[in-house]
Amino acid sequence: MEKQHSAATKRLETICSEHPEYAEVALRLKYPMETVSATIPLRMDDGSLKLIKAWRCRYNSLRGPTKGGIRFHQEVDMDEVMTLGFWMTIKTAVADVPFGGAKGGAQIDAHSLSTRELEKLSRGYMRAFSHVIGPDRDIPAPDVATGGKPIAWMADEYFNLEKKIEPAVITGKPVPFFGTKGRSGATGDGAAYCLDALSQRLPFSLDGATVAVQGFGNAGMQIARRLSERGMKIIAVSDSSGAIRKSDGLDVTALAKHKRDTGSVADFEGSESLEADAIVTLDCDLFIPAALGNVITSDNADDVKAKAILEVANGPVREDADETLKSKGVVIIPDVLANSGGVIVSWYEWIQNRAGDYWEEEEVARRLRQQIQRASHDVSERAGDPADLRKAAYALAIERITDTVNALGYNGAD
Ligand code: NAD
Repeated sequence: MEKQHSAATKRLETICSEHPEYAEVALRLKYPMETVSATIPLRMDDGSLKLIKAWRCRYNSLRGPTKGGIRFHQEVDMDEVMTLGFWMTIKTAVADVPFGGAKGGAQIDAHSLSTRELEKLSRGYMRAFSHVIGPDRDIPAPDVATGGKPIAWMADEYFNLEKKIEPAVITGKPVPFFGTKGRSGATGDGAAYCLDALSQRLPFSLDGATVAVQGFGNAGMQIARRLSERGMKIIAVSDSSGAIRKSDGLDVTALAKHKRDTGSVADFEGSESLEADAIVTLDCDLFIPAALGNVITSDNADDVKAKAILEVANGPVREDADETLKSKGVVIIPDVLANSGGVIVSWYEWIQNRAGDYWEEEEVARRLRQQIQRASHDVSERAGDPADLRKAAYALAIERITDTVNALGYNGAD
């Protein structure tokens, strides 16, 4: 199968065929600026030594210091890190955050590690890549398995290496350790604001609309909570342990408590269980993938019954499903816009760290709502057809990066 990165960057070709003036910037975006690899030695609790493969990709810095999360997962490889770095570059430009894009990862199942081993790996990752990381150069953030503590350990390791406290080097820190209020719910909140802002583009009314959510973690739980508060019906939810449904709507607050108490959504009172993958093709108004990439491909695109998809996960719709979904008239609110709440509030954290002045939660929420509404409006304005929001978001990103290059009058090549 074609590598994910080269498939993802193919979407640039569609933009260039319509906008030849963006060709040079699109060419720059086809490949990362810098990808560094390292092998991190990790002493395990049983005394054995493991070598962990790791990468940091600074994809593009034309609009500012590079920014993107670090993922600890057994399936991470350089191709995935480059793909995610590419999407971050598009996302920061769409959200109009003054950063470029980056991503990092280490190839390990973090759930197999003890807390002590996870701390050693987090500190080891920072030591391995500290030469490319910095508050004005490359600013990491959390991703799969690196929320909260791992980020605090990485920040602390950087302070030790640099012999100074420089909190703006990494975002997603716990609130009492130089973090910002409002970061933990930012992605779900942002996605809810985005859906509201684009509601005119949807073939159904949000009031009473039926929703299926794949993934009930940080982002999935928060978007389910927000949409349920807003009068939408969450009729199905899944996580790695299975899926459940209730046709007249799940009580999301009670479900969140059940997940906290039991560790999964399975066996929630009053619900019936569902085949895990069936959630993707469930009959509903809105499907929200909030777990994994590549859940809709050419193999199942034809079976999708949702009228719209809000991409909270990164890359849930593979490129080979685009045409089928478009011909069915499915409206896709693309990941590079829908889940940008996380990077927007990361930027707010960076600003607060540099100013040494911290905002109230209402201030973070007010700014986030305004910024996502503006980005949604800018994307919508460029989309002729409601099914073309992704194309419009990519065009907007390339336009903004081109504007930056033109303002400088130099693109680093001449
Ligand atoms: P998380 O680890 O908190 O939650 C992931 C959820 O997905 C868990 O409930 C897990 O059980 C579930 N899951 C795993 N495998 C599954 C499967 N096969 N079927 C159904 N559910 C499954 O992660 P998160 O932070 O909520 O991130 C979710 C997605 O959103 C990821 O793609 C991530 O890259 C993306 N995202 C997150 C943020 C953020 O700020 N959290 C920002 C941008 C994008």
